[in-house]
Amino acid sequence: MKHQAKKRFGQHFLTDQSVLSNLIGEMRPRADDTLVEIGPGLGALTFWLLKAVNHLQVIEIDRDLAEKLRTGGWKDKLTVHEVDVLKFDFGQLPAPFRVVGNLPYNISSPILFALLEVADRVIDQHFMLQKEVIDRMVAAPKTSDYGRLSVMLQAYYDMDHLFDVPPECFDPPPRVMSAIVRMVPKPAHERAAIPGEIFSRVVSTAFSQRRKMLRNTWANVVPEHMANAAGIALTARAEEIAPQQFVQVAQMMAS
Ligand code: SAM
Repeated sequence: MKHQAKKRFGQHFLTDQSVLSNLIGEMRPRADDTLVEIGPGLGALTFWLLKAVNHLQVIEIDRDLAEKLRTGGWKDKLTVHEVDVLKFDFGQLPAPFRVVGNLPYNISSPILFALLEVADRVIDQHFMLQKEVIDRMVAAPKTSDYGRLSVMLQAYYDMDHLFDVPPECFDPPPRVMSAIVRMVPKPAHERAAIPGEIFSRVVSTAFSQRRKMLRNTWANVVPEHMANAAGIALTARAEEIAPQQFVQVAQMMAS
């Protein structure tokens, strides 16, 4: 019986085989990779991945789809985790591992932030996302797309917008343009040097009102001499400040 796509789970199934082949070409999965796919759905991408790897872990919330995967022809090569990815403990996977998925767009940011917590264990991540979200992830300072998501992720990952995927490549087609991004965690010593909580607070407050000067958004948060030492004038706005400058401010506040 044909699976009825469920809106609440953001189900848009890839049907265009050239998109899948291009993604595999970018990823270059190897037989012995520890690879986890988020949201395998009907298995369009899963099928291509299984041609390359010996074994695949998949995380799927939809009971019907998880059951199909557990009992289907590929069952011996799959470990199916039937769970909400936001509750999944990535710590249980043998590290280091790779992550891939055509993500449910309604929860893509929470998924990205959950994976940030385990970046130490990750080799790379390839995701299909709403193009608009990828534009924000990779945006440069002084552009309208640059914001909290850009700074938080650029501090921890090297990212490449690989290619765009139009709505007609899916069934049912989403209303928005999609794209594929590669995310590779920066070297461990660079990530470890970022005081996570302080960094997150410094960035969030700066962008809480992006049109306002940092003098206002950072009042009682960042001392002026520390901002200045990172080359930041408090008359600037958050969108003018590079990720590395936010990191420097956080490091000064932590020491
Ligand atoms: N990978 C498939 C493809 O490309 O055709 C399906 C992609 S579809 C955009 C998103 C998939 O994620 C669906 O299979 C959906 O059931 C699953 N999903 C949605 N929310 C989820 C969650 N919270 N945890 C795990 N899987 C979820």
